[in-house]
Amino acid sequence: MYQSSKTPKGDSHVSVIGAGIAGAWQALLFAQAGHAVTLHERSDEAMMLSTSHWAGGMLAPWCESEVSEPIISRLGLRALDLWRRELPDTPFNGSLVVAHSRDRNDFERFARLTSGHRRLDARGLAELEPSLEGRFRDGLFFAGEGHVEPRRVLPKLHERIIAAGGTIKFNSEPQPSDIDGIVIDCRGLSARYNQPELRGVKGELILIESDEVQLARPVRLIHPRWPLYVIPREDNLFMLGATSIEAEDTGVSVRSALELLGAAYAVHPAFAEARIVEFGSGLRPAFPDNLPRITIGKDNHIAVNGLYRHGFLIAPALAELTLAYVEHGRIDNEVMRCA
Ligand SMILES: Cc1cc2nc3c(=O)[nH]c(=O)nc-3n(C[C@H](O)[C@H](O)[C@H](O)COP(=O)(O)OP(=O)(O)OC[C@H]3O[C@@H](n4cnc5c(N)ncnc54)[C@H](O)[C@@H]3O)c2cc1C
Repeated sequence: MYQSSKTPKGDSHVSVIGAGIAGAWQALLFAQAGHAVTLHERSDEAMMLSTSHWAGGMLAPWCESEVSEPIISRLGLRALDLWRRELPDTPFNGSLVVAHSRDRNDFERFARLTSGHRRLDARGLAELEPSLEGRFRDGLFFAGEGHVEPRRVLPKLHERIIAAGGTIKFNSEPQPSDIDGIVIDCRGLSARYNQPELRGVKGELILIESDEVQLARPVRLIHPRWPLYVIPREDNLFMLGATSIEAEDTGVSVRSALELLGAAYAVHPAFAEARIVEFGSGLRPAFPDNLPRITIGKDNHIAVNGLYRHGFLIAPALAELTLAYVEHGRIDNEVMRCA
């Protein structure tokens, strides 16, 4: 258990269940607002049982607008400000979108369906990412987008919760009905017993290591089936992601591995010499409409779930909405439902 020496200022105790990206942001904003917060997490500090552990961590509201509803952009744009405010060292180097000539039509479609980008010719691309010199005819640069490294940023958020006066209990697995006071249920897919509409959407990824390619930002490669991407991490690591499959098994199929590794090779042939560090997969918690939901239940129970493929992008904004509801009774009709 980790506890701050600060005395909580608020009189209402708030228990958050689940320390993934949704719960971490809820606990942080409530603790900062002066509530006595306890965050429960069934995993240990490594957070291996959370979907968040496996995520890409892209903060990409403009790119995501190709496939998502306007509410995701609204929440995502607000969340970018909150990421900047809480973790000012979050890299906002933008994102790049590139395509091979055979996927030209899909590339143009992507450009049409999104905003917030400017076109770069081959020279502009090479100036931005010297490793990509001569690789692509042109690209789209989304300058306002950012990315975080989930396995580094979750511990940072947990530290900030403690600094704000909150308490974190790892290896603690209560059910919402076990707890008095305000309960914010952020259990992701494990909340399915209470929210039977939830489903898991499998995302597979591969982590590779190479010191031959340097990238400063995520590079998305237009692909007929999935938006595949290469995200640079610290220590010469790159995450290759991510498939999107309506299945709840774990592991990575040979087909997906071939596509993910093929995407890396297509971005830069030097990735062929990279070392494979890890194969992994996570289940994105999703409602049938693939939209996030804050469910206001009885007995001070609030559930925040269905973050689907946008957890890192939208979690800060969802936490702000939950706080505004608890403190001022403010209802956001697009996101909130009464149970
Ligand atoms: C491959 C992949 C790539 C992705 N890339 C991105 C991306 O680039 N950008 C983006 O924004 N999103 C991305 N996502 C989506 C993002 O990961 C999810 O939306 C997000 O992780 C969901 O967060 P969550 O906190 O709701 O759930 P989780 O992260 O699963 O957290 C729920 C937590 O609750 C805990 N828990 C469950 N039951 C209990 C209990 N009874 N008591 C205590 N603790 C409990 C679990 O252990 C878990 O830690 C990606 C997902 C995948 C799989």
